[in-house]
Amino acid sequence: MKLPPFEYACPTTIAEAVALLASHGGEAKVLAGGQSLVPMLAFRIASPSLLIDLRKLSKLREIKISQDGVKLGAMVRWREILDDARLRTAHPLLITAVKHVAHYQIRNRGTVGGSIAHADPAAEMPGIVVTCEAKIAAIGEAGARIIDAANFFRGPLVTALNPEEIITEIHLPPWPANRRFGFQEFARRRGDFAMAGAALFYDEDGRKAKNAHVGVIGVADRPVRLATVQQALNGSTVDEATIAKAEAAASASVDPVDDIHASGAYRKALIGVMVERALLAAAA
Ligand SMILES: Cc1cc2nc3c(=O)[nH]c(=O)nc-3n(C[C@H](O)[C@H](O)[C@H](O)COP(=O)(O)OP(=O)(O)OC[C@H]3O[C@@H](n4cnc5c(N)ncnc54)[C@H](O)[C@@H]3O)c2cc1C
Repeated sequence: MKLPPFEYACPTTIAEAVALLASHGGEAKVLAGGQSLVPMLAFRIASPSLLIDLRKLSKLREIKISQDGVKLGAMVRWREILDDARLRTAHPLLITAVKHVAHYQIRNRGTVGGSIAHADPAAEMPGIVVTCEAKIAAIGEAGARIIDAANFFRGPLVTALNPEEIITEIHLPPWPANRRFGFQEFARRRGDFAMAGAALFYDEDGRKAKNAHVGVIGVADRPVRLATVQQALNGSTVDEATIAKAEAAASASVDPVDDIHASGAYRKALIGVMVERALLAAAA
């Protein structure tokens, strides 16, 4: 399908990109990997007058790892995350989740910033940033600001970002060496968006879990944390009985709607199984 007509710009500085975006009063869009935006143009779901390609902004391509955690530039691609050996210890949950994103070709182009901005409720990266309490750095003509991931997603394809802001960086808090984690999702075919998925971690206090973080994707209009599952885990040994309690709490906490892929009831049951499997992986 042919794309609608648009102007094209390829700025070399963030300031230039911000100025271009501001000068078009909401009619311009930034282009990252194009893996979601280009299909949307083809289907006429979006028809911006100007596309601002971020590919020359090398500062947005950096992966920084320090005692403060992991900072991913918005233009970091899925493939670059999987190829960075440091991340296997600096953020194993991130690596495990990204392995489920799409197919090889898409992972070579798609970016973390594009995924967060696109805000598909079934996408892995939004689930990871919400579960891990990440901070999202954005910049616009009014200046730079930091948005908590918990407040970033407002609904399917809707975020707290102003149309004239660009995401620059995603900051994931530090990952202790002995943290236990699991990521599980179910999709009809490998690489498809998840019908339901769970990302979780907890730290250990003796044999008991503490600081449990449990997030789910594909079962609400945005990625969400499940407080009742976290409560079931905190202060408990993660054994068969606790996992059964967590599974039941997960299913009870969501109310997914029916769609062309599955009924809400199916997804409700599925999320319990995803949490169960993620906990089994974490405890193993
Ligand atoms: C067949 C197929 C299967 C897929 N499967 C999955 C999957 O299983 N899981 C998954 O998570 N994704 C999947 N995707 C989506 C893929 O991961 C995309 O790469 C991603 O969602 C968007 O990233 P992008 O860099 O391509 O962004 P683009 O397509 O370039 O942009 C997407 C949107 O984000 C905006 N944007 C991009 N970067 C920024 C920024 N820095 N600041 C502000 N706004 C920005 C754009 O203006 C646009 O509105 C799939 C895509 C395809 C085509």
